[in-house]
Amino acid sequence: MPVNGHYDVIVIGGGHAGCEAAAAAARMGASTALLTLQLDMVAQMSCNPSIGGIAKGHLVREIDALGGVMPRVADATGIQFRLLNRRRGPAVRAPRAQSDKKRYREAMQRLLAGVPNLETVQGEACEILHRGGRVTGLELADGRRLTAPAVILTTGTFLNGLCHVGEQKFRAGRSGERASLRLADSVRGFGFRMGRLKTGTPPRLRRETVALDALEEQPGDPEPTFFSFSTRQARLPQVSCWITHTNSKAHQILNDNLGRSPLYGGEIVGIGPRYCPSIEDKVVKFAERESHQLFLEPETLEGEIIYVNGLSTSMPVDVQRALLREIPGLERAEIVRPGYAVEYDFVEPAQLRRTLETFALGGLYHAGQINGTTGYEEAAAQGLVAGINAARQALGREPVVLGRESSYIGILVDDLVTKGVDEPYRMFTSRAEYRLLLRIDNADRRLMPLGRELGLVPEDVFRGFERKWARMDRAGEFLDSTRVGNQPAHEELRERFGVEAGTSLAQLLRRPECSIGD
Ligand code: FAD
Repeated sequence: MPVNGHYDVIVIGGGHAGCEAAAAAARMGASTALLTLQLDMVAQMSCNPSIGGIAKGHLVREIDALGGVMPRVADATGIQFRLLNRRRGPAVRAPRAQSDKKRYREAMQRLLAGVPNLETVQGEACEILHRGGRVTGLELADGRRLTAPAVILTTGTFLNGLCHVGEQKFRAGRSGERASLRLADSVRGFGFRMGRLKTGTPPRLRRETVALDALEEQPGDPEPTFFSFSTRQARLPQVSCWITHTNSKAHQILNDNLGRSPLYGGEIVGIGPRYCPSIEDKVVKFAERESHQLFLEPETLEGEIIYVNGLSTSMPVDVQRALLREIPGLERAEIVRPGYAVEYDFVEPAQLRRTLETFALGGLYHAGQINGTTGYEEAAAQGLVAGINAARQALGREPVVLGRESSYIGILVDDLVTKGVDEPYRMFTSRAEYRLLLRIDNADRRLMPLGRELGLVPEDVFRGFERKWARMDRAGEFLDSTRVGNQPAHEELRERFGVEAGTSLAQLLRRPECSIGD
């Protein structure tokens, strides 16, 4: 590790935005440093052990089409794959996978270790250095200096992070990791408009103390839908999740203890994610509901620890325990790590260009949760955009901007820089004006040629993409030009679907009752 070092691009933060940014910049030929607080925590999933979901799965497919890294790692470490919205139209179907959290982290760290031009550095960035309106590098807490014409800040929930568990408060970026205080001051020193947001996480339970046998089991799809166009099969054995529900007794415990909640006691000032509220928030805001669904998700293949999806909370630990005792299957559950909330500084993203470079300081880019977004996928998508553009700037090339009409990644960036953020931003299919066109099945057609041009999509992957779409085009031409005839062999088709002779197979296939198999 160099005492001081000079690079084309420095990425601060080894979370989901940072991994994507560093891999992209280095693979495009820029000498890159990934600086992070703890190297063994690179690619840590701070909250849920899963990737994808509606609209988020679209983002991950697009990251793959552009040559990013999250999709391949998620596929390689997936322990349950499900295609969501299966009964709805193709535009809103999206892949989701439970990931083995530990293996995800390790696989990403191995992948980054094999990327040429990329060096990982452990340390704390404290001050951003600049001259004449441009970034020049940064100073670390231990006095080292790293220099570069482009720096990408991806510090997630760490800037002035403050964690809450009931009446207890402690400074941390997330549980067990220190907050970034000096870097927050340095960023504020550039005059950025900043705000305070909050997010929370549920308690983790020891599996052997949970009565899973009594609960509804939710297996994955027998035929997995992967994130990467290149993945052919799951590498790890597949596991189930389980479903349980809260009830009126559990809600009563929460209501009785609202005064001890940092959220309702006024301790938390940051705004939380509207679509991922804490259980105390759900009980207050949806008082008419007698029950909320909870998914019990194994955090690893071995499954010793269970993540209680839907039970995010910052209630005191004794209240969390009492709450669990009322929930079917969790009556004897032992808490391995209590739920908590974290408040953190974000930098208002309307101060960014479409390349995610700040207006205030040339060469300084912001990506991920620091921009007010929530979620691994949103972070990774921004990391990719910032990594591509920082590398292109450092190498003297034109910036690359994605449009709203061509990708969810383009929508994400456009929303952030034009509308700004006043609550944690997550992606939804409803944000896409052209959502019928932005499907998971055509993400490669929309974006892979660009990924190839940028140098991020390997030759063999691109050749496979060309072959696949040549076959698709030939099939399309065949369906357009082939018509149902009068001959007896077509009688079954005419009768079953009530069509006249002369109807093209493409027209026939547009009917929901007709499938490619027919
Ligand atoms: P992170 O993954 O947070 O990574 C930040 C990185 O920056 C870390 O590697 C850290 O070491 C590094 N770093 C910070 N400061 C410095 C410094 N000064 N010098 C060097 N390195 C530094 N998302 C959801 O979608 N739903 C949820 O319900 C949800 N709940 C969450 C609950 C909690 C408690 C937490 C902590 C996060 C939650 N998230 C949730 C958010 C999710 O974890 C983030 O969206 C995602 O991880 C953001 O990725 P990122 O790359 O921006 O930042």
